[in-house]
Amino acid sequence: MDSFKLHAYESLGGAVRIPTETQDEEGPPEEDPEHWEPFKDLHTYLESRFPLVYSSVNVTKVKTFALVFHWQGSDTSLKPILLTSHQDVVPVEPETLSQWKYPPYSGYFDGEFIWGRGSCDDKSGMVAGLTVVETLLSSRFKPKRTIVLAIGTDEERGGKISATALRDYLIDTYGKNSFSILIDEGGGYSDRFGTTVSLPSVAEKGQLDILMELTAPGGHSSRPPPHTTIGLLSRLIVEIEDNPHPQVLSRDGVYYQQIQCLAEHTIGLPSHIKKLVKKSIVDDTALNQLMEELSQTFSDYGPSTGTTQAVDIIRGGVKSNALPEKVFAVVNHRIADYSSVSELKSRFAEIVLPVAKKFNISMSAFSGDIQTFTPDSDVKGHLKLSAAFGSGLDPAPVSPTIGSGPWELLSGSILYTFSTNQRATSMKTDNYVVAPGLNLGNTDTRYYWDLTKHIFRYGHLGVSDRNNGAHTVNEAVRAEGFLEMIRFFTVLVLNADETVLLENKMKAPVVSVLFSCISAAIGGIVEKRASGGYVQNVSGTASFTMYSGCNSPACGVAGSGYTAALNQLSFGSAPGLGPGDACGRCFAVTASADPYSPSFTGPFKTIVVKVTDLCPVSGNEQWCGQSTSNGSNQFGKSAHFDLCEDNGASAAFFPSGHGALTGTYEEVSCSQWSGSDGSELWNGACISGESAALWPSTACGNQGTAPS
Ligand SMILES: [Zn+2]
Repeated sequence: MDSFKLHAYESLGGAVRIPTETQDEEGPPEEDPEHWEPFKDLHTYLESRFPLVYSSVNVTKVKTFALVFHWQGSDTSLKPILLTSHQDVVPVEPETLSQWKYPPYSGYFDGEFIWGRGSCDDKSGMVAGLTVVETLLSSRFKPKRTIVLAIGTDEERGGKISATALRDYLIDTYGKNSFSILIDEGGGYSDRFGTTVSLPSVAEKGQLDILMELTAPGGHSSRPPPHTTIGLLSRLIVEIEDNPHPQVLSRDGVYYQQIQCLAEHTIGLPSHIKKLVKKSIVDDTALNQLMEELSQTFSDYGPSTGTTQAVDIIRGGVKSNALPEKVFAVVNHRIADYSSVSELKSRFAEIVLPVAKKFNISMSAFSGDIQTFTPDSDVKGHLKLSAAFGSGLDPAPVSPTIGSGPWELLSGSILYTFSTNQRATSMKTDNYVVAPGLNLGNTDTRYYWDLTKHIFRYGHLGVSDRNNGAHTVNEAVRAEGFLEMIRFFTVLVLNADETVLLENKMKAPVVSVLFSCISAAIGGIVEKRASGGYVQNVSGTASFTMYSGCNSPACGVAGSGYTAALNQLSFGSAPGLGPGDACGRCFAVTASADPYSPSFTGPFKTIVVKVTDLCPVSGNEQWCGQSTSNGSNQFGKSAHFDLCEDNGASAAFFPSGHGALTGTYEEVSCSQWSGSDGSELWNGACISGESAALWPSTACGNQGTAPS
């Protein structure tokens, strides 16, 4: 096994060995120095383990133990990227010690897993980030774009001390909205319906703990009222549980987008569900049927589409012969992405009010924000509703996906990492899709909304890379999964350094929700190089123009349906050398903007074109000038499609008055193409039977070498 891997595994093992537990009742470092000793040890360890980071990068300590690493880029006009993680871990319950296969702070590598508390959550994230920086420094990489790592110390307690301090420090130092993208711990990937589905969280549910306190006069239990406070509190709880929150599959919700992606890109999702998903875009009956279907087959449906409630704490009564004077219960809520704290408060008060009225209990709710109730006479007690533990967090703003550069960069980096994975046991599928995910809980990002609009919670760990989940016994991370995580962050950092995607302005969302998922490696610098240095990705960003005279194309066969010429770097051949590997392939092309009239917001179209021709670099530099040294044209697009006028492609695609557009492309099966090329097969241009594999698998084969 090569030494890089073992070194990385031991970096994590060493960090796990330092028990940086976070306790619910601990003071800040100045008040409670003993508790914070392990954090001091962890810093000493990191400094010895990542010597280049500590000697070459600016290290700042915030609130004594939170860490910020600032690696200055050469181009200060580029917004920095921000990777966040946390040093603390949840405590190990002493009574569970015997259940651990290896001691919880062993950091032991058994040849397959690295064991111990924090190996998944979140020392792997912290160590992966530092390993990437250390490795890039050792290879003398010099970033153009500044890279910032921020590592908190109390995420497992809600981040109140360190994440708030980090937020303030980052805003003071860099300003609001100063980061191009933020990646924090969170979502991973799993095999779903025969496809590897990666779900970076683009949003988080909100949260509110509601405290119900019920007080009534005490007394001796020999002369009890018909209902004690305990009995009354029970009635309230029953009423709450009898009124669960509705589940709503909202068409503009994150979960609906995710389902659209699964329907479009997974192989094994039952076809009747796929049909319902597509139909539901415009058909309300289908949407209702879909909700029914999903609630029965998808275990994450309920929590993802509605506010959840759980009565988690109850206290009351001290002695069997004394009437309880004060009882309380706490109801935990995770608030749906379409709802809010204030909506939840009102609804909660409405649900319990009839019970209060029925039993003549006066009621006050949320310090008078919401209705109160006082019975006319004979008041039996008082019910007070309030937010417990200072809780109350609205759902996070949804990070942009459709047409958003940072989302494309993240997705492309994930797909590239998949397609080049170095697992000893190969991944189950070769089909990968990235779709937007929803976090049911909260991370430190709850405090980071002002740092950037582009917040993603994603650690690139597979479900089976976690031995037993986090926060429980036998926490362990699969070593090769951890290595993939390091590879992912390396790819992301390198891509972020070269891409123009992070500077892209948001385009108006277009076409349909289908396009928030990205199903294969995208263009630009996340390359899938084919033979001869040609860059042939099955999806990515593109620009579009039109041309006439498409009847003697470079592929040798003209089509009667919509056709296009493709930029030379993607086409796979140079002028005069004949068909490239792109010949005969079909692409769904989608416009989303007109670079010459940015205020134009559509409507735009998606059509399927077949590639029959070459757009050479020479004479078309602005559009088709992509090369191996610069994978983007002057519009920052990795591909260019010149749509044929003669067969109606351009008329079907361009809104009147707009002859040059930008957007995206995705390779599709030619069964979706509506044209004909004169024979059932496309042998004349290499795609035999129109069923050749998608790029970069060879059909024609590429000719010569790519433009450099
Ligand atoms: Zn965590």
